[in-house]
Amino acid sequence: MSDNIKVNIEKCNGCRRCVKVCNYNAITIVNGKAVIDLNLCTLCGACVDACKFNAITITKSAKKVDLSSYKGIWIVVENFDGELKNTSFQLISKAVQLAKVGKEDVTALLVGNKVMDSEKLKEIFSEYGVNKVIAIVNEALTRFNTEDFAEIISDEIMQSKPKILLFLGTIFGRTIAPRVATRVKTGITADCTDLQIDKKGNLVQIRPTYGGRVLAKIITPFNCPQMASVRPNVFVEEKLITKNKDVQVTVKKNDYRSKFTIMELKRVLQQIPWDRGLETPLDEAKIVYCAGLGVGSKEGFEMIKEFAQQCGATIAATREVVDHGWADFSQQIGQTGISIRPEIYVGFGVSGAIHHLIGMRNSRKIIAINKDPRAPIFKIADYCVIADLFDVVNKIKSIP
Ligand SMILES: Cc1cc2nc3c(=O)[nH]c(=O)nc-3n(C[C@H](O)[C@H](O)[C@H](O)COP(=O)(O)OP(=O)(O)OC[C@H]3O[C@@H](n4cnc5c(N)ncnc54)[C@H](O)[C@@H]3O)c2cc1C
Repeated sequence: MSDNIKVNIEKCNGCRRCVKVCNYNAITIVNGKAVIDLNLCTLCGACVDACKFNAITITKSAKKVDLSSYKGIWIVVENFDGELKNTSFQLISKAVQLAKVGKEDVTALLVGNKVMDSEKLKEIFSEYGVNKVIAIVNEALTRFNTEDFAEIISDEIMQSKPKILLFLGTIFGRTIAPRVATRVKTGITADCTDLQIDKKGNLVQIRPTYGGRVLAKIITPFNCPQMASVRPNVFVEEKLITKNKDVQVTVKKNDYRSKFTIMELKRVLQQIPWDRGLETPLDEAKIVYCAGLGVGSKEGFEMIKEFAQQCGATIAATREVVDHGWADFSQQIGQTGISIRPEIYVGFGVSGAIHHLIGMRNSRKIIAINKDPRAPIFKIADYCVIADLFDVVNKIKSIP
């Protein structure tokens, strides 16, 4: 059984309290009853608290996790444009000490748009006693989008299952670590001032509390990874006398693409300066909304065209849409159509076939809305909205 949210329609009277408190626009009232979009719902529970009629319930699964499969101490090393943050090595030095007590390996995890080459990484990390370095490169990480970093780190953590995961308590660590903790379903002790390993190998997370009058020692033996963030400059950086030449370095390319919520999409679309919309010739347009076969019919195409008009965008189409007679050939983008280079291209139900990409891949920002997460267009999109395009359009229109 997985986590679930349900509306008891007998109890729901459509009062809209839940709609008002939902930050994710996941709830709509249909026929006087609340309906929750599970693709948008994060199970935050705000609607449960707001409902005066106990009509919404969340059931959490009581999954038993096999903690014995979690091994090693991991440190997330801050890496910006291929430069490593020096204070990360203080945390690494502490992790190496803890690893000796707990008899664990130490892995440094780096994530960023660029990383140093593996020889250079090996040379640097061999001085600190790290056993492994895993560097994940994704070009989309040029901009600091917290969700992207959290998603990529969480994926790696869920696959590799470290027992202990440490972050620096910097702006990066403070924003990313709690998001990772939520995704990997564990807790985190923030801003620790010391770390120890107890007799059972648990991470003892030490931090001041009650205004600094008490030092709390926190252990989390029933969850893994055991996570903590530590303020910079609490520990001392220590290099080994003899370098560890056996350090294994793995540099991985990662093709994760930003997943965009409808709210974020709305915000991006609102930031774009208006064009003359449908009047602008396609090859000069700043904003292009392109309808793919996913629009399903002539009416679907007309709906996207009307939406484009409302947003000051120029409408375009894929060859499939033109071949179905829903759009004119002059609106076709691609190898046998027009090539465009707008500020923003938004594909509505476009799969991203190579013949189409040839005509639009130079767009400055590419937003793709497609209900198939494996659609090829997501490989080149800057922002990916995995959803039904009609839902997206209706939701954007309904957000004031
Ligand atoms: C020689 C040659 C030249 C060509 N030239 C061009 C060209 O110039 N331009 C061009 O575009 N194509 C061209 N093509 C065709 C091209 O290969 C593709 O067939 C075409 O681009 C696919 O169009 P599409 O993405 O609209 O349709 P599909 O590939 O059928 O994709 C439809 C997408 O919509 C999604 N979808 C369905 N329903 C929904 C929904 N409700 N919400 C969200 N998503 C939904 C589906 O998941 C799917 O990914 C050419 C082909 C050849 C052989």
